[in-house]
Amino acid sequence: MWDTSFALPSMFIILIILAFYFSLPRLPIRKNRAFLRLILIETRVILSDIVSSHMDNNYESFDHFFLCFTNTIFFMAFFLRTLAFYEFTESTLKLGIKKKKLLYVLSRMPIILAVLLAMTSHLTHLIYYIDENGYHSGAYYNALYHCAFFYLGLSFAILFAFRKRLPRRRDRYALILLNLLVLAGVIVRLAFPRYLLMDTFCLIGIIVVYLSLENPDFYLELRGAVFNSRALREFVEENIDNLEYKCIGVTVRQYYEMRDIYGASQMDAALNLMGKYLANTCSDCMVFYTRKGRFVLLAPLDISVNKVCDEIYERFKKPWESTEAKVYVNVGFSSIDMANIHYPVDIIIATVVRVIGNAGGLVGSGLYQASRDEFKQTERETEIKKCLVNALENEKVEIYLQPIVDSFTEEPVGAEALARIRDSEGNIIPPGEFIHIAENSGRINELGEIVFEKTCRFIKAWDIRKMGLKWINVNLSPVQFLSPDIADRYGSIVKKYGIDPELIHLEITEEAIIDTDFILRQTQRMVEKGFRFVLDDYGTGHSNLSRLRMFPLVNIKLDRGIVWAYCDDPDEVTANLVGSFVKIGIDVTAEGVEDENMAIMMKDIGCNYLQGFYYSKAIAVDEFVGKYGG
Ligand code: C2E
Ligand code: MG
Ligand code: MG
Repeated sequence: MWDTSFALPSMFIILIILAFYFSLPRLPIRKNRAFLRLILIETRVILSDIVSSHMDNNYESFDHFFLCFTNTIFFMAFFLRTLAFYEFTESTLKLGIKKKKLLYVLSRMPIILAVLLAMTSHLTHLIYYIDENGYHSGAYYNALYHCAFFYLGLSFAILFAFRKRLPRRRDRYALILLNLLVLAGVIVRLAFPRYLLMDTFCLIGIIVVYLSLENPDFYLELRGAVFNSRALREFVEENIDNLEYKCIGVTVRQYYEMRDIYGASQMDAALNLMGKYLANTCSDCMVFYTRKGRFVLLAPLDISVNKVCDEIYERFKKPWESTEAKVYVNVGFSSIDMANIHYPVDIIIATVVRVIGNAGGLVGSGLYQASRDEFKQTERETEIKKCLVNALENEKVEIYLQPIVDSFTEEPVGAEALARIRDSEGNIIPPGEFIHIAENSGRINELGEIVFEKTCRFIKAWDIRKMGLKWINVNLSPVQFLSPDIADRYGSIVKKYGIDPELIHLEITEEAIIDTDFILRQTQRMVEKGFRFVLDDYGTGHSNLSRLRMFPLVNIKLDRGIVWAYCDDPDEVTANLVGSFVKIGIDVTAEGVEDENMAIMMKDIGCNYLQGFYYSKAIAVDEFVGKYGG
């Protein structure tokens, strides 16, 4: 007699898992498909196990054909379950075995033979047979165990060999536990063949996987309406050779400002509604939400991007309204064609994120159609990042100096130290390309400090006062200014070189002044150590004069944009502005002076100092010494 007392509750549990699994959208990737197959086959095994056991227990009441039929179904399902567990392990490890034809065929041979055995057993009697005394195991019944041990052995082997493919330890342990549970199930079945216990062990394995790897919620965002960034990455990674999609970005404009105005809970409720709307409207697309108000749609190549965007734009004219929210937001659109691109997944994702980020700045129903060169640009940025890391780690950051001249004498009275790094061919990479990368990757502190220290070394090595120089300017990034120990660090560097800190002017930008009180304290501490501050790129931010007056600035540098605009079309405002600064005792430097005429005009409105290509570009330290060293 077969005992079904364990199998019946297992049946209920697997049905509950199925219901949960099917109630949410599932990302179409190999590993999820393998899990779906696994739970479906497990359901089939448990069901056919219960039915065939019951029929075998009461064989007199059933027709021979039906007895054979249910037993065959059970044995086939049993064999296929063994494969399903193995295939789940294989696809989670991303082995891509289907591409290696020979290996694939070899690894599937045992299961093909086993299933054939099960299918023909009512004739051959090899696995089981039914006679007038009911069910009997056949001579090859143990193939059940051999097949299970074979695939379990294979699972453990690939788990060991490719364990590094699962960077998260938790995922590795989950897969090991899954296979151990199946192994325990097989052993228990060998020991107590009459109890249908193996199904329960397999079920526990499935629950472990569901909780640790396969909960559809892991890939979802906005109350399960759309997929998340992790889903986007895994989908792109798996389909990297065949990304036949157009990527459409739908970006909430001024996301952070909107979030401030409406408040977090209202904004979140509105985003949920947007997610649901996009998932319903764009049913032939996969919809992802990558945070910060940015949706990504992966659409078929033949889609009309304009039509889709127009439709969405119309909807965004109306509010996102629920009991929790009534929110109006504007959106920008972007699109990029992904067909036939051959880049690593990191480059593709970084490009998509940048492109959809750009769309947030568009006006009206603007659609930013990004060219495929964007991928190349990301590749270049990755290359620059490598060069930056290399330069920092091998002390290859150089400083170039650009003279700053007195507007009356036109003689250099100072210089600005500007960072330079080189690419693998030795060509200079301009700071415009690497400073923001250094800032975003947290390495700007290191870079800034190297430039600062090299400047100190230069001041120490050459008596700059003899060159006629009063100071050297060093740029201080807003990111650096956030670290509370900057005063002590820079203070100890100047001490180390024994130089007068007044010889260094630190250039800060208005961007640095987010938290006025904090920055005031920071500047105060540095001023106490003897440093002086210069405001860089004036005219690119929105600071008013009274705010700037709070800071101990000795010099304000007009951004070259303002200088060029003034020289193109002189106006009273710029002239008065310079006058006001000078009146309150702050010197003014004009940046970007490229010809004599510009120099005269800037001097005439009161600029004390001039900097620009008209006098010199930034040049290497040796060249600078050769030219101005006397
Ligand atoms: P910045 O501080 O405003 O530096 C002035 C930039 O304008 C320099 O570009 C300089 O070469 C350029 N420039 C000077 N005169 C002219 C001119 O007449 N015409 C034109 N078209 N350009 C002129 P560079 O060296 O490429 O530096 C760009 C920016 O990178 C700098 O702007 C600064 O914000 C940043 N940077 C450079 N070195 C460092 C550094 O060590 N630390 C930090 N935090 N930022 C740096
Ligand atoms: Mg500067
Ligand atoms: Mg500047």
